[in-house]
Amino acid sequence: MDSVQANFCADLMQVRRNSSHSAIFREMGLSPVSIIAMRRKLLYWCRLHKLPEATWARKALEECFSDAWTSKYKTEIQAFLGKCPIDPSFKPSQVRNAVSKFSHQNEIQIIKMQRDHSLKYFPDYPSGMGRQSYINYSEESSIISKFRLENAELGNRDHPPILICPSCNNGPNDELHLVFSCPAMDNLREEVWMQAVLDEAVPKHSFNKDDPMTLRAFLGGDLCSPETLHKRGKFLRILQQKHFESINKRVY
Ligand SMILES: [Zn+2]
Repeated sequence: MDSVQANFCADLMQVRRNSSHSAIFREMGLSPVSIIAMRRKLLYWCRLHKLPEATWARKALEECFSDAWTSKYKTEIQAFLGKCPIDPSFKPSQVRNAVSKFSHQNEIQIIKMQRDHSLKYFPDYPSGMGRQSYINYSEESSIISKFRLENAELGNRDHPPILICPSCNNGPNDELHLVFSCPAMDNLREEVWMQAVLDEAVPKHSFNKDDPMTLRAFLGGDLCSPETLHKRGKFLRILQQKHFESINKRVY
């Protein structure tokens, strides 16, 4: 179910379906369906526990969890409790908080691992920011998502991958090079409005063209306004367009 949900969100954001699901959920401010189901089941389990001992439902619950029985229900609840310890005396708000905390930590863990290979440019947000405000179904917001997910369709994930930048035939074919370093993009970057976009972004952090943190900040890690981010999206779209022209000119 989670991957159906993630695919749907990937289509909305117009990014590839093989992008990081955790990052997509975080961008959209959504909980995965599996977490919503886990929360509901744990809430219900606590509710059953609080019923008077004489009720049939409470008796059935105790019987079900006694050593004499095994059931899918018991196994599932025990698995949830193994991941996210909850006391049956918890109030509903405590259950919700515990599940959110578990979900958040789990997500961060996955994103941390994926930063090594596919999320180098994905900004770090404070937790609980909800849907990212730049996402408005425009061309610009889609391009920002693609760059954040390190999947800007540059051809470096194709089979065979294009590893050398086709625009300058020299640098690495990746997002960081294209945005800040590719000499074939120098005259574009010097256009007045593009220069202004770069100037606005640069003073906010120590600028190092080879540091993924620089692109991470440029893609919203500096918590700039959605308007500013859209200007940057337009900037990226033009660079990407130029890059596609270079790929098409390549002789195979
Ligand atoms: Zn280049």
